[in-house]
Amino acid sequence: MRVLVLGAGQLARMMALEAIPLNIEVQAFDVRSDQIVDPINQQVLGEGLQQALRDADVVTAEFEHIPQAVLEPCEQSGKFLPGSRAILSGGDRRIEKALLQQAGVASAAYAEIHSKAELEAAVEQLGLPLVLKSALEGYDGKGQWRVKQMEQLDAVWADIAQFLKQASKKAKQGIVAEQFIPFDYEVSLIGARGKDGQCVYYPLTENHHVNGVLSVSLPHSSHPLQAQAERMFQAIANELDYVGVLAIEFFAVGERLLVNELAPRVHNSGHWSQQGADTSQFANHIRAVCDLPLGDTALMRPTLMVNILGLDQLPDSVLGIPGLHLHWYGKAPRPGRKMGHINLAADSTDELRRRFSQLMTLLPADDFPELAQMQSRIS
Ligand code: ATP
Ligand code: MG
Ligand code: MG
Repeated sequence: MRVLVLGAGQLARMMALEAIPLNIEVQAFDVRSDQIVDPINQQVLGEGLQQALRDADVVTAEFEHIPQAVLEPCEQSGKFLPGSRAILSGGDRRIEKALLQQAGVASAAYAEIHSKAELEAAVEQLGLPLVLKSALEGYDGKGQWRVKQMEQLDAVWADIAQFLKQASKKAKQGIVAEQFIPFDYEVSLIGARGKDGQCVYYPLTENHHVNGVLSVSLPHSSHPLQAQAERMFQAIANELDYVGVLAIEFFAVGERLLVNELAPRVHNSGHWSQQGADTSQFANHIRAVCDLPLGDTALMRPTLMVNILGLDQLPDSVLGIPGLHLHWYGKAPRPGRKMGHINLAADSTDELRRRFSQLMTLLPADDFPELAQMQSRIS
């Protein structure tokens, strides 16, 4: 069995690593270079999408910003899971918002805008503050603007107009204006849906961001909002007839969840599952798209994940902390780039908190600015 993953980054790599013991080979297709590569060591294996599709039994993706010229042949191959509608719903916020409405799932009220007049109308209709997001290509908080006061409108629009002018002509870029949600905290639900429509869910995971980039994820077993999140997941996944791992980001406001966005793939906030669950999200995605039974998703022991941003080295001594696992992605460092992650597990939350304190003393504080405030969240 051979699975082709669109995209050759760390997510494809971690899927490939989990596929080895299942006797499943994973190849990656690098959309930018048009090359087929081994996602574990980046060795080039061939060239061209047609060859890649021909040689694969199943086609899937590690990202959602995939050009139409790649999506179409994948869909036509009849091998593509979760399919191009799911990918487009993750890659275009206009399609995503329409999907959420069809599925009857709550999210921030919004308007699509193309002009200053429409921005003014959106302020009128939705109120302030507003969060403005590029419809295409946004990730890690990039391609976003905030308007808090009327006085900012001219400057923000000038910025957006410039952005739209530079936007790629191949796809029709646009802007989605969303009501700002004064959320209490952010969580994500990662689940897998099989070809038979059966779903499994990981525990709801609390997420902390620094400058728009995920920094720490902390799963909670028996979270009070778990059932609500699962209902919303099921409505979306059924609407898409989804097969594979799907991640949904939520804002928690009191007792209520609003969907922020979805990612039709394995997700950074599920990396803890490599150490905290019997079957990781990577293994479950491979199982789902290969039509194999899905594995157990329960939290086996208290676990958390810390992203390593911009650094390609940590003191070796961190590996001396029991229950700590390092996952480097083998990428060249750039400021703020996701270079790897740390999973930390323990048999009790008290022990996890102790190990986390130990970790904090070993990490360069400037590169992990949010860790100090995380301490109290581990419960
Ligand atoms: P990702 O890397 O998760 O794909 P992204 O670039 O797609 O990020 P979003 O998840 O849409 O961006 O937004 C990034 C962060 O900005 C959110 O996690 C949340 O903290 C904040 N945010 C986004 N939309 C809103 C909103 N409507 N109200 C309040 N905060 C918001
Ligand atoms: Mg996103
Ligand atoms: Mg997000």
